[in-house]
Amino acid sequence: KYADKINTEPFKKGPQVTKDRANRATVEQVLDPRTLRFLAKIINSNLMSRINGCISTGKEANVYHGTHDDAEVETEFAVKIYKTSILVFKDRKRYVDGDFRLRNSKDQGNPRKMVKIWAEKEYRNLCRIHQSKVPCPRPYMIKSHVLVMQFLTEGDGQPSPKVKDYDFQDGEEVERYYKEMLICMRRLFQDCRLVHADLSEYNSIIHDDKLYIIDVSQSVEPDHPMALDFLRMDIKNVNDFFGKKGINIYPEKSIFSFITA
Ligand code: ADP
Ligand code: MN
Repeated sequence: KYADKINTEPFKKGPQVTKDRANRATVEQVLDPRTLRFLAKIINSNLMSRINGCISTGKEANVYHGTHDDAEVETEFAVKIYKTSILVFKDRKRYVDGDFRLRNSKDQGNPRKMVKIWAEKEYRNLCRIHQSKVPCPRPYMIKSHVLVMQFLTEGDGQPSPKVKDYDFQDGEEVERYYKEMLICMRRLFQDCRLVHADLSEYNSIIHDDKLYIIDVSQSVEPDHPMALDFLRMDIKNVNDFFGKKGINIYPEKSIFSFITA
C-alpha cells in the first residue's frame, strides 16, 4: 500500500510522481517486507510522506531522499536503511567488541538484531553530537534499522558535497576546513566523548559553509580499548587528504594531543 510513496531509483531533483506498477515491483525487490513495514510506520508518523529516490548505495546501508507532501514542511530527509546482510558484520565486530554500551547485548549473533543495534548506535551518536552543537545532520527518528535524519543540501535538491568532492576556492579555504575538521574532532572527543573511527573526506560534508560530520554508526567512546587507535587512524586520514591539497599540516602527534588534552 505504501509502495507508491516509495521510489528506490537514483534520486533526481524535481516533483516525484511514483504511481506506475513497475515501480511497485522495483521497490519490493529492493526493500524486504520488514523494511517496508518500518517505512510505513515512519510515513504514518507524519514526519515525512514520501521517499523520492536513492542518494547512495553502500556496503552497509542505502540512503534515500525523503520529503513531506505538505508544502509547509520544508525539511528534506535522509533515510538511511541498514542492510541485514551477514557479510558486513565481520567488519563491524571490532567496533562492537569493547563498546561498553553494547557489551551486554545477547543479540550479537543475530544479523537482524545486530543491524538494529547498529542503526540505534548511529542514532544515539547523532543525538549526542547534535546536542553538543557539533555540526551533523539532525536526527529525527529511528524505527529498527531505518534511520531518518536531516538531508544536508544547499537547496538545489542535491546533497551537499562531501569534503572529497568539494571545490575549494584557494589554499586559504582548504586551511580553514582543515582547522574546522581538527576542532570538530576535538569537540567530538571532549564534549561528546566520541571518536568518529571512520573519519575521512568521505564522511564529512561541506554544508552551509561549515564542515559537517556524518556516518557515525561505528563511533566509539574514549574508553573503548581501540578508541585511541581509531583516533590515530582518523588523524592520519585527515592529514593525508588535506596534505595532498597542498597546505602545511600539523604533525599527527600534536593533533593527537590537541584532541585528547
Ligand atoms: P555509508 O558510507 O555507510 O554507505 P553514509 O552515512 O556515509 O553511509 O552515507 C552514504 C552517502 O550518502 C554519504 O557519503 C553522503 O553522500 C550521503 N548522505 C548520507 N547522509 C546524508 C545526509 N544527512 N545529507 C546528505 N547526504 C547524505
Ligand atoms: Mn560513509
